[in-house]
Amino acid sequence: MLYRLRDAGFQAFLVGGAVRDLLLGLHPKDFDIATNAHPDEVKGLFRNCRLIGRRFHLAHVRFGYEIIEVATFRAAHTPIDEDNSVDEGGHRVLDERGRILRDNLYGTIEEDVWRRDFTANALYYNIEDFSVWDYVGGVEDARQRILRMIGDPETRYREDPVRMLRAVRFAAKLDFTIHADTAAPIPKLAWMLDGVPPARLFDEVNKVFLAGSAYAAFELLERLQLLEHLFPDLSSALEDVPPGGSARELVRLGLQGTDERVRAEKSVTPTFLFAVLMWPAIQRAYAKHAPAADGDPQQLLAACDLVTARQQARVAIPKRFTLPLRELIGLQPRFERREGRRALRLLNHPRFRAAYDFLLLRAAAGEADAELAQWWTDIQAASADERVERVESLGPGPRTAAAGAAEGPRRRRRRRRRRPPAAS
Ligand code: ATP
Ligand code: MG
Repeated sequence: MLYRLRDAGFQAFLVGGAVRDLLLGLHPKDFDIATNAHPDEVKGLFRNCRLIGRRFHLAHVRFGYEIIEVATFRAAHTPIDEDNSVDEGGHRVLDERGRILRDNLYGTIEEDVWRRDFTANALYYNIEDFSVWDYVGGVEDARQRILRMIGDPETRYREDPVRMLRAVRFAAKLDFTIHADTAAPIPKLAWMLDGVPPARLFDEVNKVFLAGSAYAAFELLERLQLLEHLFPDLSSALEDVPPGGSARELVRLGLQGTDERVRAEKSVTPTFLFAVLMWPAIQRAYAKHAPAADGDPQQLLAACDLVTARQQARVAIPKRFTLPLRELIGLQPRFERREGRRALRLLNHPRFRAAYDFLLLRAAAGEADAELAQWWTDIQAASADERVERVESLGPGPRTAAAGAAEGPRRRRRRRRRRPPAAS
């Protein structure tokens, strides 16, 4: 890849996270390449190449499952004119708050380095002689585990507020300290996240929380006052919760559990992650709107819908995650009802496993009954006969009780009609 660009007469460097990770002795997650070839020239060299991005033109070159991102050197930091935010060629466009809308003025490597975010992310590895080109002291910062913004931090956050989240992500993931000057403007500029498209925030939030250091990232987000702009309802639900309070414990244990899974290379899904991050707010909404409806699944689902809708305004969580999330939440009250064979049907629910994991989490946080969680653990290990024995020993259950029997068939029909086809 690098060689083909070079043989065609272009400069080509490995850049960004891969160089940084190799320097730190970590496995790079992906490879980014910087070159002086223009995107259409890159396309001319590689058949399996797609040009992407409007705000920022890039070439994606596919090698099997790997996608290598090839970016053309960008020109030096264009001074932001007070009255004229469009540069000569019209390539770099900023809005009235200094935010970059488009950045496609090509330049040289000496210019490219200044538009990168952190010093440790601005190292260029040259395949010609295996040297690292470091214009900004990135090698030394990486060695000292310091995350330092290139240029004036406030200006750089105004250009692209997502850099505040990137600071949190890299500090948490790499166990770096954010340099004091780099951290200082963040609380003051955190509000600028409100102007970032919710779909981009979803991508970034996912990266922040699924990089193996979710809990460290969460603490940083809270400390830098970013959390209230990403998860306003979570932030206010946790406001009066003391350290060790069950809502905080649930978030802590949930995120630490996610981190363990990521580190063990097990699968993690945004569904469970967002259930953890939304549960304290769902519980609060539930308690507020249905103080008397203890254990009423419909009221809990209404609270879930309310919190989800509000959350979508900040972080656009796709339906393929919010729908299973809703099911996972809706099953929680059903764990309370252990009597009768109806309880056993829960074991076959397609969302049982995730809902049960969430019950365990609630129990570990001290919010759900530990004995209840244990009962559901035990019943899974029991044989079919034992299972029936156990639920029947607890009583007849609502279905066969007088009132339940009268209601049973009607409820059943209604549920069947509502069930979407091929739900899984
Ligand atoms: P990861 O290990 O998560 O891939 P990365 O450092 O490679 O981390 P990418 O998002 O892949 O991060 O971006 C590649 C490089 O592009 C970064 O290292 C950085 O130099 C530059 N970059 C990416 N996004 C921005 C941004 N919003 N502002 C400035 N520079 C950026
Ligand atoms: Mg990368």
